This record gives sequence, structure tokens and C-alpha cells, in this order.
Amino acid sequence: MKQLLRDTYVEINLDNIGYNVSKIKEFVGKDVAITAVVKANGYGHGAVNIAPTIMENGADYLAVATLTEALELRKHYKNYNILIMGYTPDEYLNYVVESNITQTIFSFNQAEILNELGVKNNKNSVVHIKYDTGFNRLGFKNNQDSIAEIVKMKKLKNITLEGIFSHFALTSKNDDDIQYNKFMNAIRQLEDKGMKFKYKHICDSISGVDYPEYRLNMIRPGSLIYGLKSFEDDTIVLKQAMTFKSKIYHIKTLEEGEGVSYSYSWKANRKSIIGTLPFGYADGYLRSMRDKGIVTIHGKKAPIIGVICMDQCMVDLTDIPEAQIGDEVIIYGDKTNNTIDIEEMSKLAGTNKNDIVCRITMRTPRVYIKDGKVVDIVNYLL
Ligand SMILES: *Cc1c(COP(=O)(O)O)cnc(C)c1O
Repeated sequence: MKQLLRDTYVEINLDNIGYNVSKIKEFVGKDVAITAVVKANGYGHGAVNIAPTIMENGADYLAVATLTEALELRKHYKNYNILIMGYTPDEYLNYVVESNITQTIFSFNQAEILNELGVKNNKNSVVHIKYDTGFNRLGFKNNQDSIAEIVKMKKLKNITLEGIFSHFALTSKNDDDIQYNKFMNAIRQLEDKGMKFKYKHICDSISGVDYPEYRLNMIRPGSLIYGLKSFEDDTIVLKQAMTFKSKIYHIKTLEEGEGVSYSYSWKANRKSIIGTLPFGYADGYLRSMRDKGIVTIHGKKAPIIGVICMDQCMVDLTDIPEAQIGDEVIIYGDKTNNTIDIEEMSKLAGTNKNDIVCRITMRTPRVYIKDGKVVDIVNYLL
């Protein structure tokens, strides 16, 4: 059902997403493939609804963390390349093969299982090998036993070893250099033993911009796609795609001394006008914004006051007397018209920008804008 039926929603600017992908492509050049990371529902932007824009503007692959995320995309798009970057337990690997999804593996055992599933389904199971160079999350440990295990995969006929990748810890340039050299050293040994990989990749958003020499022939940007990374030297200027909006639902006047919300963490120190806003922590607005959050109403910043409830929160409108029920509230925008952007929001919350956007829940509808017009509304609950 293409209905909003709710005044708290996120607006996604598809033109900005398309712009960002094409800028990244232009920036890295035609010899570097782009795997656009759309895990966590496209960092809250709605993976299914942004995927075509991403692919049409120069991405080669979509990457997700989990099997379920991959299956959701496959249900809508038969032909896009989809990589699961996380681990999929053995008992679910049949879904990967049946749905033509590329799986990350880091054991010979999973290669064998995928090969057998390939034989059974009369197709090739496509995999990327994860090689751990020091992040110590997933991947083959960097040693000779691992090299031997990977080489053994060569004899498996129904599996395509399409890629090999690693992931930077981004601790320092020096530590990243060490990781990169370990990765190159492993690849050299594998290639010396006759292995060939179509894709080799180690860079995410930050390293993909900062280390042109380490891009190899594929990068895996996530936050760049959504315009959530800014670089001080303006090497690449991207556009934030998300705006979080709501409306004023109720207004009342409080006498000095009256409290607001649970445990009266806020009390009026003057006669005050207080508005009630229909969003709370169940929509993905951080509970830590208690007595700290800022929203924009009529182009003016207004303080969130009191404890954030699950579904609502309160705002001090005393200095915005023109505010009326039904007026628009910008929870975060792109800094224009006195709004705070996702970067400022994340600083206020003491977290990163990805955390701010991916926590927006399915209760909050997504509204897609293209050429200044609403082109789609996704209400996950209807
Ligand atoms: C999430 C993720 C990315 C994308 O990270 P960004 O910092 O958003 O670019 C890349 N690679 C892997 C393995 C990831 O898990």
C-alpha cells in the first residue's frame, strides 16, 4: 500500500544516491569495480528501493552481511550480483546456491559443501575468499596452512573462486600498510600456485578514498554511497541522501516548576510552551538524546527536553511562538535551513554516522524523492 499514514518518516533523495555512486566511479576510474554495501537495509535507506539507482549509476555488485538480506534483494532482482560478506552456516548454504548468491568463505570445508551443492544444482557456486590480515574478525588466518587449504580448492569443479578479500582495521597508515602487505604476499603465493582471482579487494569507504594505491580492482564502499563521509581536503564531495522528518502533534503551556516526561528530568524554569512530537526510541531516535537533542522547526533550532519515550518526545517551543500543531519538524537534515546533519547528530550522540542511520526501524516509512518529486513510499508495516 503506497500510503504514508504517519507523519514521522525518512525521506531518501535518490538523485543524491545516484550522484554519489557516479562520483565514486569517476573518482576510482573504470578499472576499479564497485561493490556497494547495502547491509542493514541499505544503512536504513531501504536496500530494495535504492538498489536500481545504485546499479544504474556504476556499481557492479551489491554486498550485504547476512543470507536474509541477500535473499530479500534476490527476490526483487534476478540479475544483480550479490555478495554475502558474513558467514553463512552450513545448513543454509543451499539457499545461497539456489539463489545464485556469492558467498564469502574461509574454510575448505565450506568450499566442499558449496561444491557439492553446485553439482547437485548443476551450476557453479560463486565464492569470495576472506583472508584475515589482522582485523581478527572473519577469514583465513594468515599462515601456510591457510594457503594450502585455499590451493586445495582448485580441484573443486563446481565452485568459482571469483574473489579474495580482506578488511582494514584503520588503526594507522602503518598498521594498514602491514595488513596490505600480508594480503599481497598471500595473493602472490596463491597466484604462484596457479590460482587466479577476478576480484581482489580490501578497501571500504575510508580506505578507498585515502589509499588509492590499495584499491586493487574492487572497493567496497558503504557510507560513501549514502553521502555519510566527508573528507577534510574535499577530495570527493558527496551528498547526504537521508532527511528525517516529523510533525508537531500537540502543544501546551506549562507554568514555571512543572516537569515533563518520566521522572521529570526536565522542569520549566519559566512559563514554557511545550510541543509533543510523534517519534521516540522505537523509531531509531536515540534515547541518549534526553535533554540534549535538537530539532529544527520554522528554520529555528529547538531543544528536545525530558526523557525520550518509546514513541514520543517533547520539545521546548517557548522561543518559537509561531509553531502550530501540524508544523514540520526536521529531526536531521543536511545543515540547510538551520538543520543539523547526520554528522552533527552522531557527535551529539557520541557514536558514528552509520549507527545513526541504520538504527531507524521498520516502523518509520521511507519516502523516495527523484527530481524533486515523490516516486515511491515504502511502509514496511502495511
Ligand atoms: C560494512 C562493511 C563495509 C562498508 O563499510 P563503510 O565503512 O560503510 O564503507 C565494507 N566491507 C566490509 C567487510 C563491511 O563489513
